[in-house]
Amino acid sequence: MEEEEHDVVVVGAGPAGSMTALVAADRGLDVLLIDRNSEIGVPVRCAEGVSREIEKFIEIDPRCVCTEIKGFITNGPEGTKLVVSASDDVAGYVLDRRTFDKSLAQEAARAGAEVRVKNRAYGVSKSNGRVNGVYVNASGEEVCISADVVVAADGVESRVGRWAGLDTRLRLEDVATCAQYLMCDIEANSDYCEQYFGWEIAPGGYAWVFPKGEHRANVGIGIGGNISGEHHRAIDFLDAFVHEKFPNGQIIARIFGAVPLSGPVYRTVTNGLLMVGDAARHVNPFSGGGILEAIQGGLIAGDVIAKAVREKDCTARRLREYERRWWREFGRVLYAGLKAKNYLLKLSPQNFNRFFRSLTGEIKLKEYTERALMKEMAKKNPKMLLSLVRTLF
Ligand SMILES: Cc1cc2nc3c(=O)[nH]c(=O)nc-3n(C[C@H](O)[C@H](O)[C@H](O)COP(=O)(O)OP(=O)(O)OC[C@H]3O[C@@H](n4cnc5c(N)ncnc54)[C@H](O)[C@@H]3O)c2cc1C
Repeated sequence: MEEEEHDVVVVGAGPAGSMTALVAADRGLDVLLIDRNSEIGVPVRCAEGVSREIEKFIEIDPRCVCTEIKGFITNGPEGTKLVVSASDDVAGYVLDRRTFDKSLAQEAARAGAEVRVKNRAYGVSKSNGRVNGVYVNASGEEVCISADVVVAADGVESRVGRWAGLDTRLRLEDVATCAQYLMCDIEANSDYCEQYFGWEIAPGGYAWVFPKGEHRANVGIGIGGNISGEHHRAIDFLDAFVHEKFPNGQIIARIFGAVPLSGPVYRTVTNGLLMVGDAARHVNPFSGGGILEAIQGGLIAGDVIAKAVREKDCTARRLREYERRWWREFGRVLYAGLKAKNYLLKLSPQNFNRFFRSLTGEIKLKEYTERALMKEMAKKNPKMLLSLVRTLF
């Protein structure tokens, strides 16, 4: 087996992995970024919506944007509507993930990282109780890549962390199973991302219509993994939704995927290894969004790794700075999202409807952030407020 050595090897070139690689390479480390697929950003498993909060962390290349959105519309089960917008008119974007993911990997390469596609990690190597590399199938060739730090950025199906002994198990009820069509020839609101709630539409989840330009949108549904079964899979609910809403639309792409809704895993580092993005379950369980957290987590991870490698101390104790920082910066919001999701799922059908009735109207946020949105929603619903008060305020 061939052998090689780097300071850092990042497994997975999604937003989390590319961001980690970018920062670590920018700080002068020898970084290898690998992905199992032959094209970065493909297949797209995402509705591609992100709030403008992302611009606090990275510059968004206009070529990665399909649509600027004014806000979100939440449609309740009884046809109630909550319109959330931002005072500066642009609340977020519907991205083109094919271009976005590639551009992030390109930035990592520009910072000095080596990028390799069609390289699939299939195990981690260990010595003296610490991870010291990964085994990779590189287009048929087996290679052992040693590194001071291995980064598990391998998404929702993550296995790298588990190989290292971290607990990333997800219960069925902690996963949303999703189906999505990219549709054209449809009449959709091109200024707002819309969500549709209701047990008949999407049990334990919601349906979405995210505009990707005139008469074009990502139309999808996510349902609770424990609810999915024969004849009531996400695709069955999606077909019913599309039949009802866009009977004359055309489907030009179909995707399936899963979103981890467990809230962040407790331990995200071990000796010589760290997990970022979906691998660390850094997704807001209330919205199902994880692009922002993948970027934020990658920024912190790259910084901590750069310091740890320079100090020649890549033990779990040293890497724990990453855990402290992600918890402070966005962990609490994810935890609040988990509480809000659990609150909603436990409501009786009557109270579920009452909850959405209480949200009817408009919210104009000074700045569109996940935290600000959840705060405003909670203020409109005192019972929800009670369950979130300690985490959000
Ligand atoms: C249907 C759907 C809709 C969504 N909509 C939204 C949305 O609108 N907004 C939002 O913010 N989030 C959304 N998400 C979530 C979002 O897509 C993820 O949170 C985000 O992509 C996480 O980034 P990541 O880098 O952690 O993982 P990923 O983007 O999944 O990247 C992981 C990478 O690791 C690679 N990989 C995996 N295993 C290996 C291996 N063994 N060796 C080498 N490479 C490997 C994969 O090929 C992949 O490129 C959605 C998810 C789904 C499924």
